[in-house]
Amino acid sequence: MIRYFDNNATTQMESDLAELMASLCTEEYANPNSMHTFGVKQSRMLEEARARVASCLSCNSSEIFFTSCATETINWILRSTVFFRGKKKKIVTTSIEHKAVLNTLKDLKAILDIDYVEISPESNGIVEAEKLLREVDDETFLVSVMAVNNVTGAIQPFEEIGRELVGLDLLYHVDAVQTIGKIPFTPESSFCDYASFSSHKFHGPKGVGIAFVKRGSPIKPMLTGGNQERGLRSGTQNVPGVLVTSIAMQRALDCMEKASGITKDFQNRISRAVVELGGYINTPECSICNTVNASFGGIRSEVLVNALSEEGVFVGTSSACSSRNDGGQYVLDSMGISPSIASGSIRISMSRFTTEEDVEDLIEKLKKTIPLLKF
Ligand code: PLP
Repeated sequence: MIRYFDNNATTQMESDLAELMASLCTEEYANPNSMHTFGVKQSRMLEEARARVASCLSCNSSEIFFTSCATETINWILRSTVFFRGKKKKIVTTSIEHKAVLNTLKDLKAILDIDYVEISPESNGIVEAEKLLREVDDETFLVSVMAVNNVTGAIQPFEEIGRELVGLDLLYHVDAVQTIGKIPFTPESSFCDYASFSSHKFHGPKGVGIAFVKRGSPIKPMLTGGNQERGLRSGTQNVPGVLVTSIAMQRALDCMEKASGITKDFQNRISRAVVELGGYINTPECSICNTVNASFGGIRSEVLVNALSEEGVFVGTSSACSSRNDGGQYVLDSMGISPSIASGSIRISMSRFTTEEDVEDLIEKLKKTIPLLKF
């Protein structure tokens, strides 16, 4: 029996959607850009998917573009903004962004005459909006902020920041990858020019990313070629993946309220058990309900992850010591958590498919494993 608690890394597809995708691949395989009626049918499906995603995000279909993952979307958006910066040189971001943002900015800095400022979070993992806004000046051409941190689950003040940026001569990107099905998100209420999403984080397939580009906000194509996606992202579109993504997104939003209530209860129960076992909780109160980032002093996270794996319980790690890590320890370091605690942190992340039995088994296995590993 698999007890899966690594849903911030990726999620399971529902079997009917996996079957739908397989049947689209074998039966509806024409190129959506072909002239014949078989291709036109695919093109209609693509636009149906775009309209569904746009309706989920309360925006216009023309503002939605499909890519291969959020990393591609983020690269596209951040790299595009530098072409519209005029003489400005500064980007403001946070030190807890996903590496898709931080490494792209690092690369841009290495190849171009730009600089960026990373604002650190407070000890609870939340960046203070005021602190970030104080760094925004006449030199700033881009602000990039994540809505929800993938390592701790902390909700960032992305709406407040967006509201304060309105009217300023700069561009605003929100990495909204961890929002879908967890907290309400619309580009309008975050006042952003751009937002990024990844289908496999909300029970869609891997290989599909989404870019929101506000009408009128500047964007340059990153992939040039056959002029698909209105000339902005060339390459034959993944119609099966995109169609299933749109349905998965719709379901995630439809189930959000109920699922959040259930995972909130699970989150509380897991947190209580962690504390009873002498662990620390690195996830703040203001977080998505599905995540508990916990540290157990004296136990290295990879050792704990392996021990739990042996018991059929799969959790994530934010430690940087393992070669198969998601590299999240820098987030805990940024919060000022001591390295000895941060190196023993695990990330427990649930989904709407997490059951009562899963949670009971996780707690039981933690109770069994932690005392053994401490000595
Ligand atoms: N941004 C955040 C907040 C994430 O959690 C992730 C994935 O973990 C990404 C971006 C990158 O998504 P992908 O790996 O699907 O490109």
